[in-house]
Formats: sequence, structure tokens, C-alpha cells
Amino acid sequence: METPLPPPQQHFLFVTNPLQGHLNPARRLAGLASPDEEAVDAAGVVHIPYSDGFDEGFNPAVHGAGTYKARATAAGRETLSAVVARLAARGQPVTCVVYTFLVPWVPDVARAHGVPAALFWIQPAAVFAVYYHYFHGREAAIAACANGRDPGATICLPGLPPLRADALPSGVSITSPEHRHYLLLDLVRDLFLSLDEHKPRVLVNTFDALEADALRAVPQFEIAAVGPVVPDADAPPSGADLLRRHDAKAYMEWLDTNPARSVVYVSFGSVLSVSKRQEEEMKRGLEATDRPYLWVARKAADGGASPDSSDGARGLVVEWCDQVRVLSHPAVGCFVTHCGWNSTLESVTRGVPMVAVPQWTDQPTVAWLVEARMGAGVRARVDREGVVERGELQRCVEMVMGDGEAASAILAQSDRWRKLATEAMSPGGTSETNLRAFAYSGAVNNA
Ligand code: UDP
Repeated sequence: METPLPPPQQHFLFVTNPLQGHLNPARRLAGLASPDEEAVDAAGVVHIPYSDGFDEGFNPAVHGAGTYKARATAAGRETLSAVVARLAARGQPVTCVVYTFLVPWVPDVARAHGVPAALFWIQPAAVFAVYYHYFHGREAAIAACANGRDPGATICLPGLPPLRADALPSGVSITSPEHRHYLLLDLVRDLFLSLDEHKPRVLVNTFDALEADALRAVPQFEIAAVGPVVPDADAPPSGADLLRRHDAKAYMEWLDTNPARSVVYVSFGSVLSVSKRQEEEMKRGLEATDRPYLWVARKAADGGASPDSSDGARGLVVEWCDQVRVLSHPAVGCFVTHCGWNSTLESVTRGVPMVAVPQWTDQPTVAWLVEARMGAGVRARVDREGVVERGELQRCVEMVMGDGEAASAILAQSDRWRKLATEAMSPGGTSETNLRAFAYSGAVNNA
């Protein structure tokens, strides 16, 4: 019998910008791809800073929205290049640079050092495919659908099922540079220009059973699903946690006091802050469900105060929690989520049914995957201001957690998708196989 070849010596450099939803999957994938690397934290990941030129943080009101791209690109290129050179000089040459999507200049740096690059796409494959078509001749058609008056209108894109306007990522509805989220679209445009130039491999934080169609919808790229890449519930606290941690003991013990599948967990992620009106509707809606709830309420965008930490008899409100531990707790029966892709995958892998309240970026597409594709939750209707009113929230929570047939079906589907997601990442599963193939051959030169 032939002895398998030993794995080639790889040294992956993961580059991301400092957003929690980007750091978490990048850090976790780095740990999965390089288990034997020199370890300075539990996942075997070494953190090295580079600068985007805004070391004190970027504030569009102070710096001007238009200044970010040029300064971040120039400072990023220079400081990342120095990191790559320093590692080579130390006898630890980088063999592959893996980058997330808001740092589109990274492949240029990799090429300058003769190192291949791979994109780690941390949103659904369907979103990648929609953007690909948007930037390759279908911009007007997609924007027209997104901005049309008929919410039931659909758009047909190659390789994807017909998508309704409310399933499209919000970026494609932006038609003016004056739009407050134009920078996002501009960076994604740069990314796709750079992808066409460099043709890197694309790793996607998804799995075949969920997005087989979208993963094949852009044959111009070598695309492989390597997810769901989600943190381990048992992982020790990470130095990559950007926000203040709440005392986990308090809410974990509180969860222990509640029966199985009784608690509504509510979080809108690490970026969004909830308006005062949404906060009030949320509070009243949660109270109306008459169920215990754990609510991560970050400071309101319009200056409204966050709710008290003991929010009536049934609620516990925190500013931040260890979400994966919370979702893994048997008392949690439903996740009211903004449909950030990490939050959603964390919920899927724990079999927790969802109430989807998407706000922007990829979240509308994620809500479509949750409700229409997986049947693992229900999407809440919003009013003209984008707010979910109390009655609607109550209706959705009841639909997911109540005694009706809908709740049983959603629970069964959540369990089914939990198993499929787990299988994908188990030894021999589709994503595990793709990840292993990448880790062994990541240094194939496309530089
Ligand atoms: N998160 C957390 N505690 C919280 C809220 C969020 O640990 O109280 C984590 C969550 O587990 C996820 C990330 O922050 O990994 C948020 O990423 P996501 O893509 O869901 O949303 P974003 O914050 O980027 O909108």
C-alpha cells in the first residue's frame, strides 16, 4: 500500500478588517486550516496587526465617507506588504494569503510577493452569484427589480432560482454615490474587478446541501464550500472579541433555570443598533409572548437608552453575550435575528429555529434561505420604517415556538438542517473534504 504524502508545509496568512462578523469566521477558518501552526492562542492562530490608516477607528462624519477607500488601500498595501516581508525574513514565508471581501486590494500585495491568494467569501454563495451578475452586465436589471414597486417581482439570474426583490442583497439597490451605504457597494465593485484580474480560488462559508445551485452559478471561478465555519461552543474566550463581554455566568445560570426550548433569544449582531421605536416594539412584543427572553440590546442609534438589565419578570437584557454558548443551551427555543450570516449559521448548527428580521447587506438573502430554502424559521413583516411591530413579533414567535403544526414543521426542518450542516463539516463531509484539499494545496500559484 502506498504511504500518503506528508502535507506540504503551509503558512496561511488570513487578512480581514476589524468587524466581528469578519474576524470570527476568518479566525475559525485559520484554526481549521492550520492546526499544526505555531500556537499563541487555543486555535493555533497568531494575530498580526496591519493598518488601514484609521487606527483610532473610521468615522464617516469626522473623516468624510469618501476618504476611506483611498487611505485604507494605501495604508493596507504598505503595512500588509511589510508583514509579508517580515515573515519571510524570519524564515516563515507565507505560502497563501486568504482574505475577506472588504479588503479587495490584498491580492495585489500577494502578487507583489509571488504568493497566491484565495478569497474567503463570508456571505452566502447566492449573494456572491447575485453580485457577480450585477457587475457583469446585469446591474440595471437587478437594480430595477430591487427598487421596483412590486414586492412580488422576481429576477432570474443564471444558475439561481427566481429571486424576489426582498431576497436581494441591499447593495444592489444603491444607485447614487450619495447613498449612505455607497462605500459598501464601491468596495464590493473593487472586489469583483480584482477577482476578474487575479482569478483567486473562492472559499465560501456555506455547504453544498444548502447552496448547491449558487455554488455552481459562477463557473468562471473555482468555488468551494468550506462551511459552516462557526466558533466552537467550548472554545475559550478569544482575543478577537471586539465588544465588551458580559458576565457569562449570570445569563448562563439564568438560562439553566428555564425549561428546554422555552427562551426567546434576541440579537441584531455586532454592527446594527436598534432605533428607539424598534426597541419599544420589541420590548412590548416580547412581553406579549409571555415567554422568557434573553435580549442583546446594544446602544440605540438614535440615542435612546438601552433597556434595563432586568427587563420585567421574564426578560434578561445584556449588552453582549457569548452567542454560540447561548445558542447551544437547551433552554433556547427561538432566535430573533437580523440574519447576519454568522449568527444564522450558528443557529443552524445548533438546530435553533429563527424569526428573521433582516435589515441590510446580505441579510435579506439570508432570510430567504432561512424561510424559503430551509424552512427553519419565519420572516417577520416590517412596516414602512423597517420596524417589526409588537403584534407581528408576537405572531412570528408563536408561529415558531407555539403548539401549532407550523412550529412542529419548523422545528423538524431546523433539526434536519442541523444534521446536514454537521455532516458537511464531519470527516469525509463535503466541506471538510474541500477544506482539506485546500489546506493541502493552498499554495498552488496563481500569483
Ligand atoms: N456575537 C456575539 N455576541 C453577541 C452578538 C454577536 O458573540 O452578543 C457574535 C456572533 O456570534 C457572530 C458575530 O458576533 O459570530 C456577528 O456576526 P453576524 O454575521 O451574525 O452579524 P454582524 O454583526 O456582522 O451584523
